[in-house]
Amino acid sequence: MRNALRAVWIMCVLGVLGGLLHHRAVAQQALTPPMPPNLFTVHKLTDKLFIIAPYGPDMSQVGGNIGVFVTDEGVLVVDDNYYRQVRNGQTVELAEAVVAEIGKLTKQPIRFIINTHHHSDHAGGNPVFGKLGTIYAQKNVRDRILAGYKTQKEPLDFDPLKAVPTVTYDGELIFHIGGEEIHLYHPARAHTDGDSLVHFKNANIALWGDAFANNWVPVIDGSGSTLEWLQFIDRGIQLVGENAMMVPGHGAIGRAADVRRLRLYFTNMQDAVRKAIAAGKTREQAMDEILVPAYAGLPGGAPRIRQNVAAVYDELKARP
Ligand SMILES: [Zn+2]
Repeated sequence: MRNALRAVWIMCVLGVLGGLLHHRAVAQQALTPPMPPNLFTVHKLTDKLFIIAPYGPDMSQVGGNIGVFVTDEGVLVVDDNYYRQVRNGQTVELAEAVVAEIGKLTKQPIRFIINTHHHSDHAGGNPVFGKLGTIYAQKNVRDRILAGYKTQKEPLDFDPLKAVPTVTYDGELIFHIGGEEIHLYHPARAHTDGDSLVHFKNANIALWGDAFANNWVPVIDGSGSTLEWLQFIDRGIQLVGENAMMVPGHGAIGRAADVRRLRLYFTNMQDAVRKAIAAGKTREQAMDEILVPAYAGLPGGAPRIRQNVAAVYDELKARP
């Protein structure tokens, strides 16, 4: 791990050991948002399948949930976190930290990487992971990541063509490794136009990327669709089955009922926005008036709810 992390570690250890609690407080205050001394928590779902989750209740700044499937034929990874993040002038190499975390689970090489979508908290680690294995994704993901690299202000310190999915699919892709069948589905647009639902069929565990956020206000990318998102959820649950364990892109591992709670969030919001449009309300008025109090206290909070209302408004205006 990099110096920044080591510094936080050392300061925390010193603080605890020496009883110098204010040192620890100062160290944490200096970082906004605070970088936890442990970046990740590991959940063991089966003997072979692990979830590396950001540490703490809302460590969205440390990326999304990562799936790690360990086989004798190598490791398959679902999402690869940020490349790096700079905090208060300190650089934290997050993708390398994920590689180190996987190294604690197995000595098998990383061979297969799936990007559930193009966002940097899920696919940002591609410059690191692309050197280790082949990256797979729905076909729109490659184009969006390449476009993102082109608009990046900082000069790239990697070859963009080696940090994108090199195998893409549209409807369905299946891996047959480690005694598993791993299905990738793209039933519709949802959080983006390239979301994959990743189903470990034998283990009956589904990784939804950001098409499912659990107790977390969802994010809608400009390429996504709140209307198609409902189809993604309905078809997705049908494909993986009612009883599958549902792993969100952000938040705690859940069940079908938790995915349906997100569906209800959207249908309620769509109903409210339809009424606002019928009453002649502007986009701004809808954003001011549709508050969803039950979600306001969740990560993302009221500002993200406003963005969701705006996205729903735009979509319903275009496709009433
Ligand atoms: Zn995302």
